[in-house]
Amino acid sequence: MARSGGRWSEITLHHSGSDDPDRSDGRSDTPRGITLDELRHEHVSVNGWSDIGYHFLISNGYNLDGDPTDEAPDGAILEGRSLDFVGAHVRDRNRGRIGVCLAGNFEDMYPTKRQLASLLRLLKDLRERFGDLPLRPHCAVNIRPTACPGRNLLAIMFERELFAPDVEIS
Ligand SMILES: [Zn+2]
Repeated sequence: MARSGGRWSEITLHHSGSDDPDRSDGRSDTPRGITLDELRHEHVSVNGWSDIGYHFLISNGYNLDGDPTDEAPDGAILEGRSLDFVGAHVRDRNRGRIGVCLAGNFEDMYPTKRQLASLLRLLKDLRERFGDLPLRPHCAVNIRPTACPGRNLLAIMFERELFAPDVEIS
């Protein structure tokens, strides 16, 4: 993994997706989330990466199966890849980007109040450490189209004017 040198220019917002495998349309009937272990399994064992791609995961109390779990409490800020290293969360454009992922699929779910409060706290903390980093959604910086971080989360973030002013979603 490439060392980051502590040089960051942006924060990129993601959702975990976490589709419901039991439904053909991929949508969730139950609140689904993901634990760090499940995320590590997806990124390391399935994708073959050397570590979790995101620097932070903000959990929602549920695992991939939609079961409540103490491993991923609602609103917990869990550390994924160390900030000593460049992440793996935006295709070919990871350098300088801190990857923050909210657990859930916000194409059809909504983030919890605690997840949103924790996101604001994390943004504040990162900006105190690294300067006034702009926040952009994955879909605004990826080369290929992606729904990430999901339309419901996008709507909330735009409504609260939390993205950098140049972010536009067509
Ligand atoms: Zn993403």
